[in-house]
Amino acid sequence: MHELGVLNSMVHTIERIINEQDLTEVQKLVIEVGELSGIVPRYLEQCWPAAAYKTFMENTELELIIIPGIVKCRSCGRVFNAVYSDLSCPNCESTQMDILEGNDIMIKEIVCR
Ligand SMILES: [Zn+2]
Repeated sequence: MHELGVLNSMVHTIERIINEQDLTEVQKLVIEVGELSGIVPRYLEQCWPAAAYKTFMENTELELIIIPGIVKCRSCGRVFNAVYSDLSCPNCESTQMDILEGNDIMIKEIVCR
């Protein structure tokens, strides 16, 4: 599962930051997940216990913030949510679009005790 790999690399990144900052415990990890990132939020939640197992984040709470998949139609310029529009423009039905927002996954916040 792709999601587990994403989480594993995040745990490693955070571990480095935590060591540099001389912190020991992370209370909460907040991740922003774009609707067009290809990452399934539900899978992230399911994988979290496995990714955190036997790491310094074993007791860390995971919070996800979903970022809407906003795109702009290349034909008519309409801005819309690609997920709810079935990946075609609700105005002209074009499927050519540029992603404005929501194609990333990133660490938003690391809350330490
Ligand atoms: Zn259009």
